[in-house]
Amino acid sequence: MTFDTLQIHYGELSTKGENRIQFIRKLVHNVRVALKQFDVEVKGTRDHILVQIGHNSVEKLVARLQEVSGIQRISLVAKTGKDINEIKEAALSLIEQEKGKTFKIDTKRSDKTYPLDSYGICVAVADHILDYSSWEVDLHNPDVLMKISLRQEGCFLSCHDYPGAGGYPLGMNGKVTMLLSGGIDSPVAAYALLRRGLLVDCLHFASPPYTQMAVLDKLKDICAKLNVYQNDIRIQVVPFTKLQEAIYKYVPEPYCITIMRRMMVRIAEKVAKKNHCLAIATGESIGQVASQTLESMIAINEVTNFPVLRPLAVLDKLSIIDTSKKIGTYEISIRPYEDCCTIFKPKKPKTKPRIDECEKYEALFDYAPLVDEAVEGITNIYISEGKEVKE
Ligand code: ATP
Ligand code: MG
Repeated sequence: MTFDTLQIHYGELSTKGENRIQFIRKLVHNVRVALKQFDVEVKGTRDHILVQIGHNSVEKLVARLQEVSGIQRISLVAKTGKDINEIKEAALSLIEQEKGKTFKIDTKRSDKTYPLDSYGICVAVADHILDYSSWEVDLHNPDVLMKISLRQEGCFLSCHDYPGAGGYPLGMNGKVTMLLSGGIDSPVAAYALLRRGLLVDCLHFASPPYTQMAVLDKLKDICAKLNVYQNDIRIQVVPFTKLQEAIYKYVPEPYCITIMRRMMVRIAEKVAKKNHCLAIATGESIGQVASQTLESMIAINEVTNFPVLRPLAVLDKLSIIDTSKKIGTYEISIRPYEDCCTIFKPKKPKTKPRIDECEKYEALFDYAPLVDEAVEGITNIYISEGKEVKE
């Protein structure tokens, strides 16, 4: 008898009924996709997902599963029949393969028809181990904690648990249009959304020749890193130059950034609607720069009824940087580049823009056709499993 199976415990599965079925279905699918390269059998039930380890390394399988959101915990388990003698033999054989001197048994019995209660099972198994090995019981600080879970379909034994990423299975909560720049913040914001079970569909504003094609390489590399969490990612590149030139021609400099952001949101909303996305998301963080004050956010939000998600709104820069290092986007984000925001950066941006002023300046030029033209001019880049692919 050896530990030959990984048992996946569901994450925030507080929801019931149809939602629960959805959660499980999505997670089983996502686990299969994540473990594609391993050639393993994955079986989902209403209580857990079981993955047969086969000839694979447990560490590698666990490490990959820890990147999948919606998993609360992973246990390394062996399954036996429900006969108490069979359980006792299995427990003895399994503990003999562990390192240490002391053990404790912890039993959960969801099959309430079983002749022994949890305490009875603990005693029977512990006695057997004490009789036939040199292991000793330590209830407070055991070297090995053996968990026994008696279920309808059989008995699961385990000595090793690994934490999962938590959150919801990807795709469970819909799709979001993510405004992705080449900076540090927006990839971290995208990661936060992915963790919550939201798929991201990226949108990038490019202003050639002011911004270089090199930015697109950065974005591709960033999305390749995010592919760990979402297998296929699209980057929609918006030709933004004409609109941006018009803004800088007609709008007084302190208002340029605010108006530019309002145009971005107008475009993002149209794109989101077209692609059945339920929200727009950005990497903004309150107070980080002049355009990210609450007053600015009010002025920017005013042009849309769509929810604008800002997963980083209240995080500090250091924790954002930590996360970007963890997910591998930091080194890519700090490569020098020119963003459409930095190119046209005003010397003294308005930190408390007024909506009536925004409207006054926007009335100075006919921006609606330029917005439509930008949307129509979008080109797509597809990144899948770490590489650019054709559609
Ligand atoms: P980031 O590190 O994500 O670039 P930032 O701190 O540099 O953020 P800004 O440049 O003010 O802040 O941008 C705020 C947010 O606006 C970004 O996080 C991103 O969501 C969006 N954004 C900015 N520039 C672009 C762009 N060229 N294309 C798409 N989205 C953009
Ligand atoms: Mg930026």
